[in-house]
Amino acid sequence: MKILYYMGYELIEKIKQKEVTIQEIIQQYFERIEETEPLLHSFVNLTKEDSLKKAKELDKKLSQGKSIGRLYGLPIGIKDLICIKNSPTTCASKILKSFRPPYNATVIEKVIEKENAICVGRTNMDEFAMGSSTENSCYGPTYNPWDLERVPGGSSGGSGSCVASRQTIFSLGSDTGGSIRCPAAYCGIVGLKPTYGRVSRYGLVSYANSLDQIGPMSRCVHDSALLLEVIAGHDPLDSTSVNKPVEKYTELLNQPIVKEKVNSAISKLESLGAKTLEISFPHLEYAIATYYLIAMSEASSNLERYEGLQYGDMTDNLEGDVFEVFSRTRGEKFGPEVRRRIILGTYALSAGYYDMFYIKALKIRSLIKKDFQKAFEQCDAIVSPTMPTTAFKIGELVNDPLQMYLMDVLTCPVNLAGLPGLSIPCGFDNKNLPIGFQIIGNYFEENNILNLGYLLEQDLKIYRKIPPLKRSVKNE
Ligand code: GLN
Repeated sequence: MKILYYMGYELIEKIKQKEVTIQEIIQQYFERIEETEPLLHSFVNLTKEDSLKKAKELDKKLSQGKSIGRLYGLPIGIKDLICIKNSPTTCASKILKSFRPPYNATVIEKVIEKENAICVGRTNMDEFAMGSSTENSCYGPTYNPWDLERVPGGSSGGSGSCVASRQTIFSLGSDTGGSIRCPAAYCGIVGLKPTYGRVSRYGLVSYANSLDQIGPMSRCVHDSALLLEVIAGHDPLDSTSVNKPVEKYTELLNQPIVKEKVNSAISKLESLGAKTLEISFPHLEYAIATYYLIAMSEASSNLERYEGLQYGDMTDNLEGDVFEVFSRTRGEKFGPEVRRRIILGTYALSAGYYDMFYIKALKIRSLIKKDFQKAFEQCDAIVSPTMPTTAFKIGELVNDPLQMYLMDVLTCPVNLAGLPGLSIPCGFDNKNLPIGFQIIGNYFEENNILNLGYLLEQDLKIYRKIPPLKRSVKNE
């Protein structure tokens, strides 16, 4: 059976019908990983033995008629900044090379322990989730499955490429200013940033706490809906998680009323040549500056703890006093982008500049929120491209941080407002690179945007297309 062809929810049916075993699935996925990983570098480590062992145990339980949870042993990639007990969680940073968390993140308790997905490995990312290309990883970059000369997007680039290239069924990423939606767009898959507070952040290594959310990535909307159903919900261990019942996202897909709306919107779009209701966002032009001021300020405070003594790995050179050792540790173990952000964030928070930068950014953040609230008085969802371009080449922007920051213009406002945003593939450009379509919903209306995404996906029918894993032709 060509296991790789099927979506997660289809394989679950086949497992239930005993047409395929979990061991066969994991075996085939590892064959695919072994064949493609040298080209892609989606993972920072793989756990084949443990995965096969768990698959065997789950098959055994199934044959005894026992329940094995909602994720049926399907293979998943976990971004390298979500804590898994006793297993390396390095945030793609030298400073956390030897970190083994003493506990599981809440999403890991749910996805791996309770509902029994099988984690095949940790996915590559920009160091501490800072970036839009996965080039800022201490392990080196990940490559885009649609064109190996290009970036997979970031910061959850490994989580994007492993799903697109069929190394896993789905993955978990985190999104502070676009890090799920950007790689979803560049890799041609589905990625959802939930409403702030919908998913517990307990055990997610913080980049910028007031913006970070964990979310699902998959090849089709149904699989993301399924994964969201598992990870969403209140967690007493995260005071920013919201106590609101979790909807049955998978059962609510394909609702007829919405379908009519989307169908007519699509035919309207076609007949009218893409004319839609335009919404104005008076403060959008300040979004990038606001986002980066807030994200860097929070990051500088979060990353203060890594001095090598209590947190993180210390430099080998212990000459000088404690401050010299601390600075040497941070200088050696943090990459250039992380250092840049710590410096800028510290500057923005320093006495004398605090009011001018940080407080101002907070004020604009609430104006951006209001812009969205006004827009949602007129519509149910806001659509836009996810990214201003398709995947750019490796090395193209990495030395031009400001240009790289501008890539987040369409995703970061959603985090500033705390809203849910979905990216689904909506077609390809003339270089055969996927284009992401972003659907932004009102607070806790994940259901609504998943539904819209699902209907568009069913109409577009491109989600089974397999990326070529080739380099683009030279002199195109
Ligand atoms: N590219 C953005 C940044 O570098 C977003 C990162 C993210 O969402 N983690 O901050």
